[in-house]
Amino acid sequence: MTGLQPTAGIHLGNYLGAIRSWVALQEKAESFFFLADLHALTVPQNPEQLNHKTLDCIAMLIACGIDPKKSHIFVQSQVAGHADLAWILGCMTPIGQLERMTQFKDKSARRGDDFIGVGLLYYPVLMAADILIYGANLVPVGDDQRQHVELARDLAVRFNGIHGNTFPVPEAFFPPNCARVMSLQNPTAKMSKSDPSQSGTIFLSDSEDVIRKKICSAMTDSGSEIRALDNKPGICNLLQILSGIVGKDVSELEKIHGGLQYGKFKEVVAEATVDAIGPICKKYFLLKDQKDFLLSIANEGRLAAQSRATEMVSKVKAKVGLL
Ligand code: AMP
Repeated sequence: MTGLQPTAGIHLGNYLGAIRSWVALQEKAESFFFLADLHALTVPQNPEQLNHKTLDCIAMLIACGIDPKKSHIFVQSQVAGHADLAWILGCMTPIGQLERMTQFKDKSARRGDDFIGVGLLYYPVLMAADILIYGANLVPVGDDQRQHVELARDLAVRFNGIHGNTFPVPEAFFPPNCARVMSLQNPTAKMSKSDPSQSGTIFLSDSEDVIRKKICSAMTDSGSEIRALDNKPGICNLLQILSGIVGKDVSELEKIHGGLQYGKFKEVVAEATVDAIGPICKKYFLLKDQKDFLLSIANEGRLAAQSRATEMVSKVKAKVGLL
């Protein structure tokens, strides 16, 4: 069970940090993948664009290898129950725990003097509901979701302690490398869809030329060694990305590419990235305008998710004494 916000295109961080594990895990267990459009509303959205982006993200998930015959792909807002369960769980969540969430602090700080809605604070409770409503055991996510999955675990334990065994306590699953892909332009911040500078983020729909350009102009330090050292966050990030793509340890890559100059090393990373993303991008462009097909996938996913969600929410409502 895991999700992705359909707020902008899917980027390399989403792919290496999350989606690639989802593709592997769907072979091992019944899997639910959802487009987190309710989460997207925690910051202002253009309604028409959100609609399109949601379908676009379904196309991209399939292009990445999520197989709708094996997994359930659905849209969060189309399944009744997530918000109900979030309310019940929210009544058991200390405000302080939400205020301490790193992502809340970051996102609210980034909004500066702009309006900050309660939804931004409440986001992790909704995420706990997204997970617990399906009785999920495993939640494959990137490192930025660590604290949020921890809250889902806390709430499962708290609810089970008060009302008897109801929710399995979910485990987070992080990929062995690339759990946090950093921005190419600011390698101390994570690669993000909402980064105002698009040159730090590689979108899976970027053309080969754009990918090459972004990687070749990635920020690096003034040295010349290809080593994953703390004072070389830019090179570290490129090594991590290459490691995620080619499946070799960073230490092995240091040995292989240690003799290269930065420019040549960036070319190696760029070509590996183009090779990995190219086929996904082609498939995405074939699928993205097949609106009826994408809607039918979302509908099948919704039916499967809804029956599970209804069952859990009924159980929870009865346990807390709702008539
Ligand atoms: P989002 O839709 O951006 O909230 O994230 C969807 C999934 O991608 C979540 O599992 C995130 O943890 C993961 N993710 C997002 N950004 C990154 C990143 N820069 N590196 C690794 N994983 C990421």
